[in-house]
Amino acid sequence: MNLLSVSNPADDSLIERLPIDEPARVAQRVAEARRAQGPWALRPLSERAQIIAGFAQSVRAQLPALAQVLTRETGKPLAHSSNELNGFLGRIDFFLAHAEQAMAGEQVFDADGMREQIERVPLGVIGNISAWNYPWFVGGNVFVPALLMGNAVVYKPSEFAPRTGLEMARLLHAAGVPDDVFVVLIGFGATGQALLEQPLDGVFFTGSLATGQRIAQAMGPRMVKLQLELGGKDPTYVCADADPVAAAQSLADGAMYNAGQSCCSVERLYVHEAVYERFVEAVVETVRGFKMGDPMAQDTYLGPLTRAAQIEVLQAQVADARSRGGRVLTGGARATGPFAGKGNWFEATVIDRADPSMALMRDESFGPIVGIEKVASDEQAIARMNDTAYGLTAGVYTPDEQRARRIGAQIRAGSLYWNCCDRVSPRLPWSGWGHSGVGLTLSREGISTFTRPKAWHLRKA
Ligand code: NDP
Repeated sequence: MNLLSVSNPADDSLIERLPIDEPARVAQRVAEARRAQGPWALRPLSERAQIIAGFAQSVRAQLPALAQVLTRETGKPLAHSSNELNGFLGRIDFFLAHAEQAMAGEQVFDADGMREQIERVPLGVIGNISAWNYPWFVGGNVFVPALLMGNAVVYKPSEFAPRTGLEMARLLHAAGVPDDVFVVLIGFGATGQALLEQPLDGVFFTGSLATGQRIAQAMGPRMVKLQLELGGKDPTYVCADADPVAAAQSLADGAMYNAGQSCCSVERLYVHEAVYERFVEAVVETVRGFKMGDPMAQDTYLGPLTRAAQIEVLQAQVADARSRGGRVLTGGARATGPFAGKGNWFEATVIDRADPSMALMRDESFGPIVGIEKVASDEQAIARMNDTAYGLTAGVYTPDEQRARRIGAQIRAGSLYWNCCDRVSPRLPWSGWGHSGVGLTLSREGISTFTRPKAWHLRKA
């Protein structure tokens, strides 16, 4: 039997070995989900909603233990894991409040004996391939509304967060979701690939651009609904009239929270020359104040990276930035002292004198590192912010809302922040433009995305 070893990125210790779902097993589980989906969809929405509400209650009751599971396998500081779980509960409240509306049919015409109606029906069996950085958020954005809408979900957690995936299944099943209606598959990319080869009615993927492109290529001829939530290289502009210290404190957190491993982490900063020096000073001071430590300790802000391989990406970006005139103001290397020798520890890193030729300002870093470039005008900042194929989020710091809106309107990104950053709301659509993805989750639209319309043309004989 092939096994997946789950280890702790803080010290490389082995947590558990889990049996991998091989392709034959994947096919069997999808067939079982197919059989179970019809009866699940036939149950009234109110019953499914009650089950999901019960699931939320168990998550709330077991939150400290669930946070520990997540922290041990990803290295995410315990406080951040708890924040994620609390935020997830808020999202469930939103989904429950809007499920009925998302499923509601509509009569759009009634005249001369002819009626026209729109019915919303579930997609069927969906495959959900998910990332490790916020598994409750990105997994839950899919499986909660999908289950509410009457779909069966076959969920492939990342190899770096499989125990959290198994916890989700345990709690969903205990709350009353039938075993075959929510199925977890354990494995590496090959298990995800085997899932995609099955007859599915929808594929919802969260992960990197490279994997997303591979999946889009494989799924293209299949005519299956495909949503992709991919990476970003999210920029923020600090205007000449911004408070440089307040902006720096907010943006340092936006860049370093969860060790920068958020799809909407602030990765590029463009700062007007009028406030540049003060801003840079305050960012460095704030970042130096972030406490690195045992992720299990409540007061730790910076934990290890989840993936060891990302350290090389960060080292290469630092070296490239240095060779092109970048100035490393703090960090820039693997962490030393108590963090040396084991685990995936990298110092929080701030580099200024950055320019668009640097990999640091072009390629997703996905780590505790941020580049800063000085700009001379709003127009230059807008051009820089749009100089990317990604388009997930972007931000503007200024006291002037009109200015923020004028600038924001010219930025190609699915979400725009004014004086805030690294923020996701269940009430708003979460969508990437360009290489950041296709389709959306969250908001009312992100619930009905798990249904399809059936158009009824009805004439009485
Ligand atoms: P990956 O693309 O490496 O992996 C994502 C998922 O795909 C994992 O479950 C992975 O399995 C699986 N997978 C890998 N290869 C294949 C394949 N050939 N066929 C099917 N499935 C496959 O991304 P990460 O997990 O490292 O996540 C980080 C990325 O996710 C970042 O780019 C980040 O920006 C993005 N992201 C985007 C979000 C958004 O909302 N836009 C939210 C969160 C993250 P395994 O892990 O076992 O290899």
